Amino acid sequence: MKRKLLRGATVITMVCGRPDAERLDLLIEDNQISDMACDLQVTDADVIDFTGRIIIPGLVNAHLHSWQAGLRCVGADWTLLEYLSKVHGGLAAHYTPNDMRVAALACAINQINCGTTTIGDWCHNARTPEHADAAIQGLNEARIRAVFLHGSSHKIRETAHPVQEVDRLLDGPIARNKLLRLGMAIPGPQYSNAEIALADFRAANERNLLVSMHQSGGRPGAAWEAVRDANLIGWRTNIVHGNDIPDDWIQTFVKAGASFTMTPENELGQGHGFPVTGKLLKLGAAPSLGTDVDSVVSGEILLAARIALAQQRGLDHERHRQTKGIFSPTATINSKQALQWATIEGARALGIDDQVGRLEPGKQADLVVIDPRAVNLWPAHDPVAAALQASISNIEAVMIGGEWRKRNHKLEGDDLESIRQELQESGQRLVSVLESHNVMARLRQKIVQKVVHRSLIKQAKSL
Ligand SMILES: [Zn+2]
Repeated sequence: MKRKLLRGATVITMVCGRPDAERLDLLIEDNQISDMACDLQVTDADVIDFTGRIIIPGLVNAHLHSWQAGLRCVGADWTLLEYLSKVHGGLAAHYTPNDMRVAALACAINQINCGTTTIGDWCHNARTPEHADAAIQGLNEARIRAVFLHGSSHKIRETAHPVQEVDRLLDGPIARNKLLRLGMAIPGPQYSNAEIALADFRAANERNLLVSMHQSGGRPGAAWEAVRDANLIGWRTNIVHGNDIPDDWIQTFVKAGASFTMTPENELGQGHGFPVTGKLLKLGAAPSLGTDVDSVVSGEILLAARIALAQQRGLDHERHRQTKGIFSPTATINSKQALQWATIEGARALGIDDQVGRLEPGKQADLVVIDPRAVNLWPAHDPVAAALQASISNIEAVMIGGEWRKRNHKLEGDDLESIRQELQESGQRLVSVLESHNVMARLRQKIVQKVVHRSLIKQAKSL
């Protein structure tokens, strides 16, 4: 692969000790950044002039379920309970391996278009090895960097995670793609029991794998205490949501080095609760971000960062108003912090911050070129704020592992029309299943109502 020299952009490296934004040239060799300086003198490289643009590290969407891409917009008005009953209690069982493949591909392509170079693909519908293989195949076709978090169906919670399947994936499909890593998506101690939780955490630790779990339901229970007492909470532990974890347990997780991933748009809209941003910041930690459910919300990670920032600022202002009678005179969180949540903190949560999340020599060449010369951003006085406020239309180019995946505002090398058609067919079939479930549910409800009505009449007659 010929060397590439990205010249003239304002670069936000996210490297500690460097300026927030600086004029830098980036030299890309194979899949890595090999050099970085102002006015680099290089021969034998393709020179690409990005004067006037902003380059940031590739965005990291640390938690989403790619398999739901074919259901986009179906659940825009669902609460959490409706989502759980309709998707996990209904639709999920009807997925074929090919539904998994095309959804993963379409989801990943959308992520790349939005500037995301790494996803934490939380696949809790790997019902069979064929389903898992097909989902991974979709990620392969999209050429996105991903931590594939292998999970089983929501209904399988009575047994420990199938480690033989984890080992099969590690040795096979994952090993064959340099952009992929494996992790374990488990129900977690709150939704299983101590025996299962301990087995799952130990299995992940023995294989040096990330272990990730949704967390809600209030105070962590006895199974969590067992995991904590066995010293199994650590940097490989990833808590998703955790909106109602009490402060002492948040402290326990942070102290042990666990990461938190918030998905603010659906957490707020569906009823999970408020994101834990402020609680983490108070302890010197920071959240990572995800968009969670393509079936419910859009997949833009920069939008997630802006929602999280605004929501926490709103809470801080309100707290100040209640104690001092007026909103806070200065911002409690800045734009750079929110951009960190969507880059380096995401990389840290997925356990790959040694490779991505910052721009510096030796790191993978995962980056986003933002064009601020559009009506929504011009004159973009502050590059960091401009990067955070960028929309999809500003995402001019995206590189993953040294390969351009988007150039001149267009995705590179994807047959979008055929993917769209495949997704459409898959999505339509699945939505028709949902509709027939709804008809059956309404029918069941009517029958129950009639039976109750008849028995009430009978009782009344016998009085
Ligand atoms: Zn989720």
